[in-house]
Amino acid sequence: ITRIGVFTSGGDSPGMNAAIRAAVRTAIYKGKKVTGIYHGYQGMIDNSMFDMDSPSVSSIIQQGGTILKTARCMEFKTVEGRAKAYENVKAAGIDALVAIGGDGTFTGAEIFSREYDIPMMCIPGTIDNDLNGTDLTIGYDTANNTVIEAIDKIRDTAASHNRLFFVEVMGRDSGCIALNAGIAGGAEAILLPEKDTAIEELIDMLSQGADSNKSSMIVIVAEGDKNGGATDVAKRVKEKFDNFDTKVSILGHLQRGGSPSSADRVLATRMGYYAVNELLKGNSRATVGIRGSEIVTTPLEEALSKKELKLNEDLVEIAKIMAI
Ligand code: ATP
Repeated sequence: ITRIGVFTSGGDSPGMNAAIRAAVRTAIYKGKKVTGIYHGYQGMIDNSMFDMDSPSVSSIIQQGGTILKTARCMEFKTVEGRAKAYENVKAAGIDALVAIGGDGTFTGAEIFSREYDIPMMCIPGTIDNDLNGTDLTIGYDTANNTVIEAIDKIRDTAASHNRLFFVEVMGRDSGCIALNAGIAGGAEAILLPEKDTAIEELIDMLSQGADSNKSSMIVIVAEGDKNGGATDVAKRVKEKFDNFDTKVSILGHLQRGGSPSSADRVLATRMGYYAVNELLKGNSRATVGIRGSEIVTTPLEEALSKKELKLNEDLVEIAKIMAI
């Protein structure tokens, strides 16, 4: 391996820049050349690439988003699109790739690396914490912190007005952000995609809170919850609690931005370093992950084929008890 290409793909997450920086600096330290690829797989097809050196990743560790930009690229899903991408990658002298993104990015990497026999390592970057092969994804900790900051602010106004708030948080089909931020923010109830809580059950939980004279109640609704979004849930619950003023807050994309937390910066740096070292050792078609405090790798085929349940049942129980 003489030149490593680095790119970010799919949805952005805070800490991606720290991973880019770590991959670039590790490669340079090991005497390799680095090419930055803009806009994920799209940049390979459009030949949007540039030489990177150590200064090109200066002062980015604290920045949210990704300096390499990111994109969803439909053309890469076609054989012709990938052929064009490979021509450009080959012409640039790139002989190994580091991809930072979510499961779509991993799927693309698995196919491309197999099709053209090019070594690839993936790094899990998404706020959703929904990837296999790792306990944690880059951006998840920052998103949790962003959400609890918002919940704390909502609590101030909710408590002043006897309000019942429904706060919708991101996570796609994963309830990780909802559960963790719900516990940290002292939520009265948390609706999780993995749990299928019926509206009647939610009403029961909130009735207990109302009976114990709570001055405010906050329900965290994961965006993937099967009852629909926070607006729908609020509509169905509202009339049962007429002594509370009901409000809905959908946090939306602010959860994807912001300066990465210390934990995400360190995780991303470890993963970027590890991804390059694994490539240089001959590992390929795998994702880097963290298990406990250890950095590990998992073959992409395995990571993409199974569904790990990340929701911690203890936390679900604890959240219920804390809400009494
Ligand atoms: P997030 O979790 O934030 O959505 P992601 O990596 O899963 O991130 P996707 O848009 O699903 O985001 O995937 C990123 C890109 O990976 C796609 O735009 C596409 O270019 C590529 N990709 C996804 N699936 C495939 C596939 N089956 N074949 C080839 N490329 C794919």
